[in-house]
Amino acid sequence: MNHQNHIIELFAGFSTNNKEKREMKANCTVTLIKGENKIVLVDTMTAWDKDVLLKELKFHHVAPEDVDYLVCTHGHSDHCGNMNLFLKATHFVGSCVSHKHMYYYHDFENNPYKLDNNIEVIFTPGHTSTCVSVIVKNTNLDHGRSVAIVGDLFEREEDIFDESLWIEAGTEDEKKQRINRLKIAEMVDFIIPGHGGRFAVTEEIRQKLREDIKQ
Ligand SMILES: [Zn+2]
Repeated sequence: MNHQNHIIELFAGFSTNNKEKREMKANCTVTLIKGENKIVLVDTMTAWDKDVLLKELKFHHVAPEDVDYLVCTHGHSDHCGNMNLFLKATHFVGSCVSHKHMYYYHDFENNPYKLDNNIEVIFTPGHTSTCVSVIVKNTNLDHGRSVAIVGDLFEREEDIFDESLWIEAGTEDEKKQRINRLKIAEMVDFIIPGHGGRFAVTEEIRQKLREDIKQ
């Protein structure tokens, strides 16, 4: 049977940067994936968002203990604020994989981590040195298209033509981030960024990201 992985965008994140005050208002995008055999949750907002997160999951008939994999794309507090709601799940904080007190080594540099059919975690450092993204193929989006859920590799769609948006949001390795932004764009049809809604990857976007890499 050809199962389509169901992508549910629970929250579209946001961020606004106040440079004068040296502060940023932000919360992350949260995505639920109903795979053929596994349920995956990507990013969990801040510790103050427990109730809204639980309410939204319940609306989609998912209890916290139903989640098999919790992927926090990186270890910033707005992406991993509610990990302790999901105690049956294997946890990812970036490329660090654990369950309870057990930590599992995985060679992310060379191999994706497979979660289910057509769902895998890949290594996409840049925003932080251990960031990961979740690649989902054969989804319900636009009759079987692919999507990458990328955390802060992309801040939001507008950061493609206004680079200051992702650079000022913080980057630990600008060069690696550019390489991984292009890699993802070449790989999928849609991107779900860390602080905004889903967008389609157009040829114009790919071309811009190819030019960015030459800098
Ligand atoms: Zn973030």
